Amino acid sequence: MRIATITNIAYIATVLLTLSSGVSLFMASNAERTERDAVQQSRVFDALTQELEKEAFSLTELARQAAIHPQGDDIQAWKTTLAEDKRKEKHLASLQDVGASTEELMLLQRALTVLDTLEEEQGTAIASIEAGQREAAISLLFSREYEAQLGQVESHFEHFRSLLDQRTDAAVAEATQLSQRLRTLSEVMVGLTALLFLFVLGFIIRHRILRPVITLSDVVNRLATQDYAVQTPTLAHVDEIGDMAQAISIFRENGLARQRLEQERDADWETRKLLARMTRRLQGCDSWGDIIMATTVFAPNIIPGAGGRLYILDEQANTMRCVARWLLSPSDQESFPPDQCWALKRGHLHSPLRDAVDMPCTHVPAEAAHLAICVPLIAQNKIIGLLSFLNHDTGRELPYIYIELMGETLALALANQKLRDSLTKKAAFDALTGMRNRTDFEETLQMALAQAKATQSVLSCMMLDIDHFKKLNDTWGHEAGDKVLTEVAALVTASLKGNGTAFRYGGEEFLIILPDVDEAQAVALAEEILHNVAGHRVLYDARQIGPVSISIGLAVWPHHARADNLVRAADLALYHAKENGRGQIRVARKAG
Ligand code: GH3
Ligand code: MG
Ligand code: MG
Repeated sequence: MRIATITNIAYIATVLLTLSSGVSLFMASNAERTERDAVQQSRVFDALTQELEKEAFSLTELARQAAIHPQGDDIQAWKTTLAEDKRKEKHLASLQDVGASTEELMLLQRALTVLDTLEEEQGTAIASIEAGQREAAISLLFSREYEAQLGQVESHFEHFRSLLDQRTDAAVAEATQLSQRLRTLSEVMVGLTALLFLFVLGFIIRHRILRPVITLSDVVNRLATQDYAVQTPTLAHVDEIGDMAQAISIFRENGLARQRLEQERDADWETRKLLARMTRRLQGCDSWGDIIMATTVFAPNIIPGAGGRLYILDEQANTMRCVARWLLSPSDQESFPPDQCWALKRGHLHSPLRDAVDMPCTHVPAEAAHLAICVPLIAQNKIIGLLSFLNHDTGRELPYIYIELMGETLALALANQKLRDSLTKKAAFDALTGMRNRTDFEETLQMALAQAKATQSVLSCMMLDIDHFKKLNDTWGHEAGDKVLTEVAALVTASLKGNGTAFRYGGEEFLIILPDVDEAQAVALAEEILHNVAGHRVLYDARQIGPVSISIGLAVWPHHARADNLVRAADLALYHAKENGRGQIRVARKAG
C-alpha cells in the first residue's frame, strides 16, 4: 500500500475519531444539562406544591377567622390569597405534563381537586358569613369532612413530592451515568487518535526517512569503493532526502561517465600499443608472407569484432587480389577491378556508415555495402593495395584514425616489399635478356646439386655460346648484337618448357641447369635448341642478320664430372664443339 494512501486513511480515521470524541463530549454535556433540568424541575414542583399546601392552610385559617370574628379584613385577605392561589394552581397545571409519571399526575390532580373543593367550601362559608349566617360557615369550616379534606391535600402533595424526588434521583443517576460513559468514550477516542497519530508518525519516519536514509547510506558506501554498478533508489520526494537521492544519482552518473572515459582511454592505449607493435613487426618483415601474417594477427585485435580483407593490386591484370582474410568467410569478393571501390577512386578512407549518406562500394555485396570501411594502401602516390573492413556492430564507433594509421603503415610495408622484390630481381636477373644472371646461377647450381645428391638423381649442365659473335657485332653493330642476344635467350628459355633453368653466364654465353635430366634427354633438348636457333630469323632495320648459330657443350653429373667441376666439364665440351667447327653439340668425356 502506498504511503499516501496510508496517511490519507489515517487522516480520515483521525478526523472521524476526533469528531466522535467531540460528539461524545457534546452528548455528555447534554446529559448533564438534562440532569440539571430534572433537578430544577423537581425544585419548582416541590416549591409550588409546598406553597399550595401552605396556602390551603392559610386560606382555611383566614376563612375560619372571618367566621369567628366577622369584623376583620380576613375576608378581603382570603380573597387576595385565593386569587394568588388560583394563579399558582394554574402554573402547576401548566407544569403537569413535564416528564411526570401517571401516578404523580394522578396524585397532583387529586390534591388540586381536593384543594378546589376546599376553596369552594371556603367560598360557600365566606358567602354565608357575608349573608350573616356565621354558624353555617363555622359548622362547614370546622367540620370533620373539611379537616379530612385538608389532610388529604397535605398527604397527596407529600406523596407527590416523594414520588417526584424518587424520579428526579433516578433521572439524575441515569444522566450522571450516561455522562460518565460518554466522557469515557470521548477519552478513549482521544487516546486512539493519539495512538493513531503516533503510529502514522512512526510509519512515516520509518518509510520516508529511516529506510531511504539506510538505502542511500549503502549506495554511498558502494560508490565510495567505485562500485558504480549499484542502482540508486528513485525517490520522488520533494524534501531533503529526495534532494540527497538526486545528488547521489548525479554523482553515480558522473562516476559512470568517468569510468567509461577511463575504459575508453585504456582501450585506446591498448590499440595504440598494438598498432605500434604491428608497425615494428612490419618493419621486420622480409616477404609478402610475413606482411600477410602480421596483418591477420594484428588487424582483428586493433579493430575487434570487424571482419576484414587485405587486397594487393595485380598491376598487369588491373585487379585487386585478396591475399588475407579474417573473421569473414570466402566469397566472390576475393578479386575485383579497382574502379569498384570508392576508396581507391578517391584515394581516401571510405565509410558510408560513418558519413551517413555516401556511395556504396560495388565490390561488397549490396546488403553489406553500407557496413564497409575501405582504406586505400598508397605509397609514392601509387595504389598498392586495399584494407577493407565489414563492421557488423553498427552501434559501435570505430577508431577511424587508427584504421587510417594501420593503412599507412601497411602501405609502407607493402611498398618496401615491392622495392625489395625489384632489387632482388635486379640482382638476380640480367637486364638485357631477362634471364637469371651468373650470380644467381652459382646459388641455383649448388641447390640443384644438393637436391640431386639427396635424391640420387642426375643433373645435366649445358653451356651455349653464339658463334662468331664478335664478327656479327662488327658487321651489324652492337645494337643488332643485343637484339640477337635477346632473341636467342628467348628461344632458349622457350625450348626448356619449364624443365630447367637458363642463365646468361656472361657475354654471348648461356648456361642451362636440368635437374633429373639424363644425357639422352639433355642431348635431345640441345638438338632442339640448336635447331630452333638455326631456323630463327633475326631482323634488324628490316634486314635479316645472320646467319646465327650456336655451339653447345654438355656435361651430366655424376657421369661426366664431379660436382665442383661440372661447369668446367661443360665448358670443355663447348670448346670441343667450337674446335670441331661450331654449330654443334659436344658431350663431355666420362670422368676417369
Ligand atoms: P667464337 O665463335 O669463338 O665464340 O667467336 P666469338 O666472336 O663469338 O667470340 P669472342 O669471345 O671473340 O667474342 C665475343 C664478343 O661478344 C666480344 C664482345 O664484344 C661481344 N659481346 C660481349 N657481350 C656483349 C653484349 O652484351 N652485346 C654485344 N652486342 N656484344 C657483346
Ligand atoms: Mg664466348
Ligand atoms: Mg662466341
